[in-house]
Amino acid sequence: MNEGNLVRGWEVVIGLEVHAQISSNSKLFSDSSTEFGADPNTHVSTYDAAFPGMLPVVNSFCLDQAVKTGIAIDGTIHNVSIFDRKNYFYPDLPAGYQISQLYRPIVTEGKIAININGIEKIINIERIHIEQDAGKSIHDLSSDYSYIDLNRSGIPLMEIVSKPDMRSSEEAMLYVKKLRMILRYIGTCNCDMEKGNLRADANVSIHKPGTPLGKRAEIKNINSIKFLGQAIDYEIERQIGVVEGGGTVVQETRLFDSSSGETRSMRSKEDAEDYRYFPDPDLKPMILTDERIEKIRESMPELPDAKRTRFMKSYGISEADANILTEDTEIAQQFEKAVSFSKSGQNAPKLIANWMICELFAVLNKEGQTIQDLQFPIEYIAELVDMIVSGTISGKIAKVVFSKMFETLNSPSKIVSNMGLTQISDETIIKETILKVLAGHKDKVEEYRSGKHKLFGFFVGITMKELQGKGNPDMINKILKQLL
Ligand code: ADP
Ligand code: MG
Repeated sequence: MNEGNLVRGWEVVIGLEVHAQISSNSKLFSDSSTEFGADPNTHVSTYDAAFPGMLPVVNSFCLDQAVKTGIAIDGTIHNVSIFDRKNYFYPDLPAGYQISQLYRPIVTEGKIAININGIEKIINIERIHIEQDAGKSIHDLSSDYSYIDLNRSGIPLMEIVSKPDMRSSEEAMLYVKKLRMILRYIGTCNCDMEKGNLRADANVSIHKPGTPLGKRAEIKNINSIKFLGQAIDYEIERQIGVVEGGGTVVQETRLFDSSSGETRSMRSKEDAEDYRYFPDPDLKPMILTDERIEKIRESMPELPDAKRTRFMKSYGISEADANILTEDTEIAQQFEKAVSFSKSGQNAPKLIANWMICELFAVLNKEGQTIQDLQFPIEYIAELVDMIVSGTISGKIAKVVFSKMFETLNSPSKIVSNMGLTQISDETIIKETILKVLAGHKDKVEEYRSGKHKLFGFFVGITMKELQGKGNPDMINKILKQLL
């Protein structure tokens, strides 16, 4: 193992279980809505409330979504998968069991590549299984009672279980970011962590390299990537403290408290036997034909890694730029739209990438906005770049035009003509101006001619000022050189 990853001689081992809410309008086994934020208990069918005798009906769209996810992580998709009952008592679980897939999940053996300090690392995925969410207990409405909201009861989830392949909190965070990116690309989960649509359980252990893995603590239900990093780092320190203090780490479930930045014990860890899993007698094995799997495979959109490679190859942009422009499909789409609109040919992609990343995103970030909030069409960026390339405006004037685009939502060409910003590329005008400048600074001209070549910039500056910043810089340079 990589020495660099050891923490005071200890190797850290991390495996993540990520619960991703499957994007679907209706629940996993009923036709109730999955809409977020509805009044309590308004999206509850008799099945979701576990009325006796109600039977589950599989939402086949959810199965397709899981298959899509499995394909995206290069996993093995199983023709047969089986739903099991996981039995436990909780007030927000009226059936007394959750339907999940223990023995025969729909997907096994996938992988996700993360990029850690420029080096690709594969994180293996053990399985993806489908399960239903439970309801929600609300304890803070009254001091006398707890309330139950069953809107979440039966919401479709995918649990994506990694192998214990991560060695630092940084790797764990990169893994969740990459997973989130993939799920968003393929539209199987919107990954809105604030709404709880993507939650992670972090399994953390420490051991000395070359010895068997240590006992893991499982930190439950982490709902932000930042908290994931904090929880893991705290847990590493805690476990090292326990072991170096002569104690042993026990297998347990812990909770992360984001206000104190600490994890605390919730309960000792149950084993699978405690849940008395057994195949759900109300549900037949799920059969996915090869034909159906192939059809989904053919409908897959381009995935992040492929898109990034293509952007670098066909647009000649740097890896860093390609990373940013493929972060989400909307950005990638807008970039390609601008490139196809531009008339600057081979120059277009690099220039548009530059303007989008350095200028456009800077403004959007400052306003706390994303590309979805952009008020003017992306074609304006292409137009702006074209005007620079054709020499209509200088790069400096382009910045003025750019900020006017946000103010007025007008196209660059309209702004340029309204404000009279068109670049002066008329040789006679430039020549006349330069002659005037030189005549007005005879002493400086003498100095220049006797070897003080640093003064060149001075002449460029004054000429530009005379032309109100609109002079074509290349022409000014050229003509100045001739005349000096
Ligand atoms: P459970 O549901 O009981 O938590 P799972 O098999 O679903 O069990 O999940 C186990 C998770 O714990 C996986 O993500 C796996 O990679 C991880 N894991 C297993 N052993 C270790 C270990 N020694 N240290 C850290 N993580 C581990
Ligand atoms: Mg677990």
